Amino acid sequence: MTHAVIAFGANLGDREATIASATRALAGTEGVTLVAVSPVYETPAIRGDGVDHDAPGYLNGVLAVDTTLEPHDLLDVLQAIETEHGRVRAEHWGDRTLDLDLIDFGGRVLADDRLVLPHPRAWQRAFVLQPWLDIEPDAVLAGRGSVAALRLAAHDEVVRR
Ligand code: AMP
Repeated sequence: MTHAVIAFGANLGDREATIASATRALAGTEGVTLVAVSPVYETPAIRGDGVDHDAPGYLNGVLAVDTTLEPHDLLDVLQAIETEHGRVRAEHWGDRTLDLDLIDFGGRVLADDRLVLPHPRAWQRAFVLQPWLDIEPDAVLAGRGSVAALRLAAHDEVVRR
């Protein structure tokens, strides 16, 4: 069994319904046991060049699971769930009904064509670190240190719903 942390984000359509449905789909996956669901945060959209307050905002949070799957197989599951929920057409580049990122997989460090672990931008994203901290106050991000310390250093806006 490996403990893994998955971040979710949704900024189009019925965001709450999408997140609830994706959580159910993940919990119903063979080899995956849902352990914790974080509070949900409202965050502004981030573009390549910074925050875009004109774009629809995101709902973000994290899910903790225990899994017998290998990391690439878990990524396959996440991408299949994204595809199942990807029915609302994007009006802006980057907008999406559902984004699922594998943040941490048992502290494993790897990088190949499909998967980088831990997720390369998680360490600086308050919208990942804060909900992770809410459910796992002692969490550590491999190679980066405690999630609590990283959260203090991250300055992007997150508003708890
Ligand atoms: P995005 O559209 O930003 O969610 O990026 C999806 C792409 O990132 C896919 O091609 C994945 O194979 C790749 N990827 C690399 N590392 C990760 C990760 N830790 N979690 C999710 N996707 C990843």
